[in-house]
Amino acid sequence: MRFAGSANLFFCSDMEKLSVGIQKSGRLSEKSLDLLKESGIVLANGSRKLLSSSQNFPLKAVFLRDDDIPQYVYDSVTDIGIVGENEVLEKGHDLEIVERLGFARCRMSIAIPRDIEYKGAESLDGKKIATSYPNILGTFLAENHIDAEIHVISGSVEIAPGIGLADAIFDIVSTGSTLVSNGLKEVEVILESEAVLVAKAGLSPSKQEILDKLLFRTRAVRKSRDNKYILLNAPNDKLDEIIGVIPGMKSPTVMPLAEEGWSSVHSVLNENEFWEIIDRLRDLGAQGILVIPIEKMIT
Ligand code: ATP
Ligand code: ZN
Repeated sequence: MRFAGSANLFFCSDMEKLSVGIQKSGRLSEKSLDLLKESGIVLANGSRKLLSSSQNFPLKAVFLRDDDIPQYVYDSVTDIGIVGENEVLEKGHDLEIVERLGFARCRMSIAIPRDIEYKGAESLDGKKIATSYPNILGTFLAENHIDAEIHVISGSVEIAPGIGLADAIFDIVSTGSTLVSNGLKEVEVILESEAVLVAKAGLSPSKQEILDKLLFRTRAVRKSRDNKYILLNAPNDKLDEIIGVIPGMKSPTVMPLAEEGWSSVHSVLNENEFWEIIDRLRDLGAQGILVIPIEKMIT
């Protein structure tokens, strides 16, 4: 009995694990951990330590600065990483974007002082542009044959024009209010970014298998977030039209109600088309509409 127990323990601790680089503290951290948690992966200690190994899934998380994640994945220090696409492009390593994760959305734009006229990218010719992302900006300028000077600064880029350090900036924009409060206007969107899961090509077959299992779970979680379960009562004479409005995963479940002439219809709706469909269902005479969140969705 004791022997079997210790052999099992040895197997668990020695088992190959997939390592994932996650931002230690910042805009990506919480959502990255939530995605793992909702995928049923329990990590001890959260992000308080450098490393946290899951006891119920062959994965260990390494908590890093987001800027370092592309390099660490490229150097195989971690097998995969969750990081902003902007950082992946800026660092320029040959990494594969395995999955787009839909959070930490932002855009990267060029902004100039509000009172300066902008007539297209050529207005930037001969200008000095401050940024923390010289590679993405450099690529844009080269593609558009613009001869501008790139001035690299590491933080508070948006104050550069106000203090006479630059004529324009290239930076992350989420709402645009920081630009407005610094007297700037957005003139050119160069990149739309979101969190992505990256890997270096050539993972070992056993690690690739773990990654596939992880993706199967994260996709089910993300799909469930985008969809709702819907139940409603439909008059039988409108059933075909109502079913036509909500086709469901395969086709809706229809069950007779105890009350003659009525049926219960169950299906799945996408969040994006939700309100429009509800309105059409009500117009067709559907009643008692219930909408329920879905925990996991496997198609
Ligand atoms: P670290 O200490 O890990 O280097 P950081 O300060 O560089 O953190 P955060 O501000 O946490 O990074 O941003 C991480 C990522 O979140 C960005 O690279 C970008 O992909 C995304 N992001 C989304 N919206 C914004 C925003 N409004 N400002 C900055 N980053 C944003
Ligand atoms: Zn950073």
